[in-house]
Amino acid sequence: PPAAPGRSIRPIDRSSLHRLTAAQVIVSLESAVKELVENALDAGATSIQVVFRDHGAVGFSVADNGHGIPKEDLPALGQKHHTSKIRSFSDLGQVSTYGFRGEALNSLCAIADVSIVTATKEPLGFELQLSSTSTLDAPPKPAARARGTTISVTNLFRSLPVRQQEFKRNARREYAKALATVQNYAVVSTGVRLSVVNIVNSRPTPMLTTKGNAHLRDNLADVFGAKAAIDVFDVDVSLKIPPPARGTAFTPISDALEQHQLSDSNDDTAGAYTIRVVGVMSHPRPSAGRSSSDTRQMYINGRPCESPKLAKAVAEEWRAAGGAGAGGGEGSGSGTGGLPQCFLDLKCPTDTYDVNVTPDKRTIFLHRENEIIEELRVALRLLLERQNTHYTTSQVL
Ligand code: ADP
Ligand code: MG
Repeated sequence: PPAAPGRSIRPIDRSSLHRLTAAQVIVSLESAVKELVENALDAGATSIQVVFRDHGAVGFSVADNGHGIPKEDLPALGQKHHTSKIRSFSDLGQVSTYGFRGEALNSLCAIADVSIVTATKEPLGFELQLSSTSTLDAPPKPAARARGTTISVTNLFRSLPVRQQEFKRNARREYAKALATVQNYAVVSTGVRLSVVNIVNSRPTPMLTTKGNAHLRDNLADVFGAKAAIDVFDVDVSLKIPPPARGTAFTPISDALEQHQLSDSNDDTAGAYTIRVVGVMSHPRPSAGRSSSDTRQMYINGRPCESPKLAKAVAEEWRAAGGAGAGGGEGSGSGTGGLPQCFLDLKCPTDTYDVNVTPDKRTIFLHRENEIIEELRVALRLLLERQNTHYTTSQVL
């Protein structure tokens, strides 16, 4: 029954609160997998294996060859807001890791069974289980393992019966979403061998394998097939973001400092910075670039993100240059007409954006979004024009 009016205000009991807040960080199989893959990348792994059991309905694990977790850190592992990545809010401007809130493991423990094997150097590692309150119920046991970490998750949404039922009923669909997300990381993570296997009735099916390629385009071929990489051209441009007009509302702190330090000399360029945009885009041809929603992704420093404004600008330039692939009208803020297949990573200075907007960190606040979009449009226009010249010439020959 609804709370009677006039009931006194009291704190929610601790374990209920834990479950409530955890359910906002780990909202799906996809977000659970994403958090663990990000942790593996943050640990500097060059090899990552994701294994689903029965499409994740039974569980999944992520194994990496990253730096591992030192024994003395194990008791703090999974404690709420415990992280090795930042110490204070002011570190946020410098953070280059995917994680920094120290919430993922803590949240996972509240809603699933989590076990970990980790080693900072082979052959001796430690094995431990985290309880639902993320304490170690038993001391870590020695276990043989090469350097790296394996985190296994079973019984997802154990403590949220309604969501667990819903999850099991839609296991295939949830799995497809999780796989699509791993694909996005696999495409952008150059230098990393990433694989996904789905084990059903003890039969493993390989779903994805990248070979540690140096170029995003080769990752694309590994993930979506060789054909996907033929239809695209490489993008590698530098955007010069001009200094902010005086009196703009948002100036990154470091800009302000720099301005202060350089005030005698370089007054015009203070606060200016460069963004390198690396990736691929489908040729601007009427028929090329058939694209579905899973072959488009924008990234900021390798972090998949949603920016309808950026995506719209990219699509408009592509269409203006003659592109007209399928996939329009999907309501992705891209207007009518086709959308290019494209994967673009904006390599920005870490203090020029804020990822701490939503718990999943997919919504990113770019300080100078309008200027960035303007510069990106100009750069893409030039590139697309060149593609067209190329195309026409080879047609004539
Ligand atoms: P965050 O990533 O925000 O720090 P997490 O809850 O995801 O928070 O992880 C907590 C801490 O556990 C990390 O800061 C890191 O020190 C350690 N950790 C988690 N996963 C791994 C991993 N795969 N390899 C090495 N360390 C890890
Ligand atoms: Mg993390």
